[in-house]
Amino acid sequence: MSELAATERTKVRRHPERGTYDQEQIYSILDEAYVCHVGFADHGQPYVIPMAYGRSENRIFIHGSAISRLLTSLSAGIPVCVTVTIVDGLVLARSAFRHSLNYRSVVVFGEATLVTDPAEKMEAMRVLTDHIVPGRWEEVRQPNEPELQKTTVLSIRLDEASAKIRTGPPLDLDSDLSRQIWAGVIPLTMEPGEPKPDSHVGLDKIATRQIWRRGL
Ligand SMILES: Cc1cc2nc3c(=O)[nH]c(=O)nc-3n(C[C@H](O)[C@H](O)[C@H](O)COP(=O)(O)OP(=O)(O)OC[C@H]3O[C@@H](n4cnc5c(N)ncnc54)[C@H](O)[C@@H]3O)c2cc1C
Repeated sequence: MSELAATERTKVRRHPERGTYDQEQIYSILDEAYVCHVGFADHGQPYVIPMAYGRSENRIFIHGSAISRLLTSLSAGIPVCVTVTIVDGLVLARSAFRHSLNYRSVVVFGEATLVTDPAEKMEAMRVLTDHIVPGRWEEVRQPNEPELQKTTVLSIRLDEASAKIRTGPPLDLDSDLSRQIWAGVIPLTMEPGEPKPDSHVGLDKIATRQIWRRGL
């Protein structure tokens, strides 16, 4: 895989050493997270809306109700900025000012394109479903025509994107290091809980099984 070109918009200026344009890193962050925030301006009003998404090669798909104001606005081809964030740790410093978070995040600039081709739309639905639990698409009933009609799917290419990654301990001032206060990193990970089957599981002898994505 290769590096994306840094553009005027994606050039990381603040802490540039934390920035990367490596496609593999960008994809791995996108594949691990669950939520993207879609930012756009509609008649001068900025909106930032959290949404599910899925990645396939060099694009992400978002979807929703065909009557959604958000998706209708976006499908008119307005510019979007999509961000995805994973928080890896709480960074506790000896001064309030130096507290931070360890993170991996991605910022994507682009345009949302309406997916109209039926086969492509179905593939986008597979990608969105399998992003939640890989392989789920093959196990469940797939969308029928009325469901597809009610769904708008948009695609955003990953041509102009940056990732930023913070790792490591707090960056305390030397003059604070002798203060007797705990400092360091509290790692945060997303762990699955025990699956809770709904009341219909088992009625037709379907065994409850461990469900989690990617063995995280
Ligand atoms: C969980 C989390 C918490 C944060 N908390 C704070 C905070 O409290 N205060 C604060 O100032 N900053 C915080 N940051 C960092 C913040 O995201 C910005 O990187 C930083 O504020 C600099 O913004 P800027 O617009 O001046 O950066 P610039 O370097 O001017 O941004 C230029 C370009 O760099 C890229 N870029 C910038 N930031 C990111 C990013 N995080 N991920 C991917 N690409 C990026 C984008 O393409 C952007 O357009 C946090 C980041 C994360 C992920």
